[in-house]
Amino acid sequence: MKTNQDRICELRERSILEASELEILLRTMTAEDAEALYEAARAVKAAHYGNAVFLRGLIEFTNYCRNNCLYCGIRRDNRNAQRYRLTDGEILDCCDKGYGLGFRTFVLQGGEDPANTEERIAALVREIKRRHPDCAVTLSVGERTRACYKTWYRAGADRYLLRQETSNPTHYGKLHPPELTIENRKRCLDELKQIGYQVGCGIMVGSPFQTVENIVEDLLYMHDFQPQMVGIGPFIPHQDTPFRDMPAGTLEDTLHLLGVIRLMLPKVLLPATTALGTIHPRGRELGILAGANVVMPNLSPVTVREKYMLYDGKICTGDEAAECRRCMEQRIESVGCRVVVDRGDCAGFSPRRDAEVL
Ligand code: SAH
Repeated sequence: MKTNQDRICELRERSILEASELEILLRTMTAEDAEALYEAARAVKAAHYGNAVFLRGLIEFTNYCRNNCLYCGIRRDNRNAQRYRLTDGEILDCCDKGYGLGFRTFVLQGGEDPANTEERIAALVREIKRRHPDCAVTLSVGERTRACYKTWYRAGADRYLLRQETSNPTHYGKLHPPELTIENRKRCLDELKQIGYQVGCGIMVGSPFQTVENIVEDLLYMHDFQPQMVGIGPFIPHQDTPFRDMPAGTLEDTLHLLGVIRLMLPKVLLPATTALGTIHPRGRELGILAGANVVMPNLSPVTVREKYMLYDGKICTGDEAAECRRCMEQRIESVGCRVVVDRGDCAGFSPRRDAEVL
């Protein structure tokens, strides 16, 4: 009889399991199994990254969005959202301040704002790279054309975050309006990877209507896609969305998946997300202990923090960047890791900056 401990050993050795075996593991994981999983995940992480945790400075630069995702607090139909858009100057100030605090990656995230023109984002990326040539720039502004992604890569963008949210088409349809499709989302992910970005995909844990089969499908999709980054955090309902009464994803399910993903993608850059810190006071520390190696403190001006509300109860909306940095350092050290001042590229990744792309 195969036990979960056997499944965990096999996953650690081969980075893959049959769908049916992954399903059993997720459905029957005991607290003791989970400890064995996290221990394996920490060992695999240490083999590639030691005890380093990478910092990303998150700049939530616009909450205007043309999309209407059913789970998201900044969806188009949410009339209660107070919309804001940072100016180029404000975004650059966040980067300058972040640089002084030891950040060497800036993540520009936002809704699909029509003001995010190809030219504007390209100019912004160029200016950040001119001021901080030793830093990486990550974009997370949704679905665009291949030509646009290529322009931004040429401008100097290094990484792109675009969670698939769920790779199952039926489930995707329950979370999104009909004009959004998983086919287009995957097309974007494929193109970003072909162009040369370090690419991040990912899911929300416990999103409405999600089944264990859906999660297994996502795990296999991600193993097949081989992203450099994976963003996973619990779904948390937002009061002004159609999913206001849906239950949040759990701490345990999220930690289990962080551990499993670390074993399936040993070198992946895996954040302990703000959403995880929102559902449990030590969620991010527990995330690091389960296999995560990235944290993304907020660098946005405190004046707009409350307005980038993807879900209810989001933490750290009142803290200045410097406080976030200090607080994060203490949390990371409390679990035996250390914050490094480094771009924190994916181990073994060599960026394509050759003539063909540039
Ligand atoms: N517009 C960009 C950035 C989206 S916001 C894009 O389309 O990629 C970043 C992530 O927040 C989303 O990918 C989603 O997984 C997550 N998110 C949105 N609403 C959420 C909620 N209610 N609970 C938890 N995570 C949420």
